[in-house]
Amino acid sequence: MINKNKRRKSRKIKHRHALIIKITAVLLIIPVLIASGIFAYLYTHPVSLKKSVIEHELMEPFDPWDNVKHLFFADKKDVDISSEANIEQLGEYPVTYTCRGHKYSATVKVVDTTAPVLKVHPYKTDLTGEITPEKFVKEATDLTEVTLSFKDQGNWDQEGTYDVRIAATDSSGNETVETTTLTRIKDTTPPVVQGADNVEVLQGRTVDFEEGITVTDDMDPDPQVSVNSDQVDFATPGTYEVTYTTKDRSGNEETTVRKVTVKKDRDYNRKVVYLTFDDGPSAHTDKILEILNKYNAKATFFVTGNNQKHNDVLKRIVDQGSVVALHTYTHNYAEVYASEDAYFKDLKKISDMVKEATGVESKLIRFPGGSSNTVSKQYSPGLMTKLTKKVQEMGYQYFDWNCDSTDASGNNVPVKTLVENATSSTAQHINILMHDTDAKGTTVDALPDIIKHYRSQGYAFEALTIDSYPAHHSVNN
Ligand code: ZN
Repeated sequence: MINKNKRRKSRKIKHRHALIIKITAVLLIIPVLIASGIFAYLYTHPVSLKKSVIEHELMEPFDPWDNVKHLFFADKKDVDISSEANIEQLGEYPVTYTCRGHKYSATVKVVDTTAPVLKVHPYKTDLTGEITPEKFVKEATDLTEVTLSFKDQGNWDQEGTYDVRIAATDSSGNETVETTTLTRIKDTTPPVVQGADNVEVLQGRTVDFEEGITVTDDMDPDPQVSVNSDQVDFATPGTYEVTYTTKDRSGNEETTVRKVTVKKDRDYNRKVVYLTFDDGPSAHTDKILEILNKYNAKATFFVTGNNQKHNDVLKRIVDQGSVVALHTYTHNYAEVYASEDAYFKDLKKISDMVKEATGVESKLIRFPGGSSNTVSKQYSPGLMTKLTKKVQEMGYQYFDWNCDSTDASGNNVPVKTLVENATSSTAQHINILMHDTDAKGTTVDALPDIIKHYRSQGYAFEALTIDSYPAHHSVNN
């Protein structure tokens, strides 16, 4: 009996032990299951975003990472972000975050919530001017386009001062309002002319009476002006009146008188022949001077440094009243036109030679081949364009010709041909090209007939000065 009881007791104890073990096991397993469940969930949802729609201010720098709340069991380097956000333009743009094959999408909404900056000032005008909001605005800026308007437009057509409210609205509807004043007055002041000073002009020259004239009005931004110069006779010395009549939009009118004095020019309408001889001096120079003396004519000699044994004649040219001017020292095209530098080196040499021989520092040039020569192109493209400009900037003048005796076309060109060609012009100022070299004997023979022809036509024979008609050719290089 006792044994039976004992056995029953021990079976009961065994049962209890088993239960405790079972409960303990269950209690241990549940958290592990929960934990692994959470882990499994988070591992498959590695990215948590703050917002699915991100409102973002226009032009502000955008960083997609700012929208990431947490990363689970992942590093920044595990996340691949693709963003199409354009912060410079209003709109909605996708941003995608990819991590371990899982995709998370958000939308960036670029918005403008900033109202324009608006600065205004009072505006004063007459009773005719159109009143627009722009007239009051010193500054109206925003990231988007700004529209200006009146907040409440009144009836502002009487004299007086009014409060005006200006609104600046951007393209997102953000609005800034500022208040200023409008003053309307009756305009009684006519526009003012500036630049209509009295002027003197040499006979035969003209003045553009609209050039340099400005008209301003206190109210009208675009006042009218009319010029009356009908009385002015540029050909006849005297003093004339030019009138400027100005008018503003309120009808205020004023007349300003400008005096124009046309001064007598001794050369006006005078006909002049400039006899020019290139390439001297030569064995013929004295003979040419003799003819010039006989006819009381002056000429210009563009000399070279190639025949210096005759240089003593240069002083006699000057003493006779004619002019020694600068042609070239070497007359070697390849050398003279090699470069700008080469040209000026040559010019300096011939200039020094002339100064030494005559005491005169000449500023008169004739380019070898004339300014229209094309031979310089093969040595230095564009050279003549530069030289013609530069020599004038340096205070020289270059002279071409408008009448060619054609004595350079060969040696001993018949006198008849030379006279015919040299007397073919009827221009007011004639610059005749001739040559003074040992080989041009017929040029000397033709000279008296050339002089006689033009003298019978009323021409004077003068040497060139820096102000003489330069007979410029068109530049071809
Ligand atoms: Zn020459």
